[in-house]
Amino acid sequence: MKNYKITLLKGDGIGPEIVEQAVKALNVLADKHGFHIEYTDALLGGVAIDATGVPLPPETVEACKAADAVLLGAVGGYKWDTLPGHLRPEAGLLGIRSALGLYANLRPAVIFGPLKSASPIKDEIIGDSLDIMVVRELTGGIYFGERGRKEVKGQPAAFDTEMYTVPEIERIARVAFDVARKRNKKVTNVDKANVLESSRLWRETVLKVAEGYPDVELNHLYVDNAAMQLVRNPRQFDVILTSNIFGDILSDEASQIAGSIGMLASASLSDGTLGLYEPIHGSAPDIAGQGVANPLATILSAGMLLRYSFGMEQAAGQIDAAVAAVLETARTPDIWEEGCKRVSTAEMGDLVCALLK
Ligand code: NAD
Repeated sequence: MKNYKITLLKGDGIGPEIVEQAVKALNVLADKHGFHIEYTDALLGGVAIDATGVPLPPETVEACKAADAVLLGAVGGYKWDTLPGHLRPEAGLLGIRSALGLYANLRPAVIFGPLKSASPIKDEIIGDSLDIMVVRELTGGIYFGERGRKEVKGQPAAFDTEMYTVPEIERIARVAFDVARKRNKKVTNVDKANVLESSRLWRETVLKVAEGYPDVELNHLYVDNAAMQLVRNPRQFDVILTSNIFGDILSDEASQIAGSIGMLASASLSDGTLGLYEPIHGSAPDIAGQGVANPLATILSAGMLLRYSFGMEQAAGQIDAAVAAVLETARTPDIWEEGCKRVSTAEMGDLVCALLK
């Protein structure tokens, strides 16, 4: 029987409650498909600060590197809000992403049919459902480029630099095309090639990578137009490929179209199959420990883990289908509507597991 290792970073607030539900779902699928998962718990965020004095202890980095995949709950909370920046829980999050070389961020923006009313976009624009994947470059570009302050014509000035190397563009483009092959085989490259030289190199490189993917359709949009098209006609998108800064903005815009924060999963991938999977929401300290948190974003993140780190497309699809099905009848309080059963975090996890069996 094949054995996989997952390191769990449950973190703070609702983190432990929601990760527990995702683990239940993974275990059901392991039984069903005949594989075994070995879990290791490691500390990240506030719990790590309390136990060791730092948000990302070296043992956590080692435990993540030794795993096939990492599943993260969330970090942060009022208790640690007054610590200096490098000692705050969120510093642990940035630290683990960089320690694992996670250069590709995948953020699906999915509207499940039964949750259409949570979207701020009109029904006729969404249609039956919506499923967009934003693939954002995560470790290069202007957030990491040279920056500084200087004087220009006697006036104080500041600058930041957008720079990408061809290999950096090639590897993120390949991720986007590979992801599109598992979906509807369409990539929309988003850049600002009408103005920026870095975008022109980006586009040239994407075009070259595309030659290796003749089965995937490619089109290009300038970022200003892409921002507009996301609300005007989001159904035209399958996979959006873009740089760090444009992806930062567009992935948040796309997730707002989906509406419910408790439903949004994400994956951050490195070279090879190691990936870190986490819901996009935070640790929700206002509801922690009450058993009311929505575990579906974390369960969907576990589905991405199966798809992208374990290559288990069928099992991943079963998670997506179980989540879509459970929403027809049961909801946690954050997405509850008249006519549905109001369930707790653990009950939602149990219902998903029952559907997976
Ligand atoms: P948040 O996402 O934790 O919460 C925002 C609102 O959404 C809250 O009302 C919360 O109750 C609700 N919410 C979030 N997830 C939910 C879920 N699964 N089910 C039901 N309701 C949910 O954002 P915030 O309040 O700005 O931040 C709280 C803490 O989380 C802060 O310390 C922040 O730094 C941290 N944070 C961590 C991450 C992460 O770990 N990736 C991301 C964002 C914020």
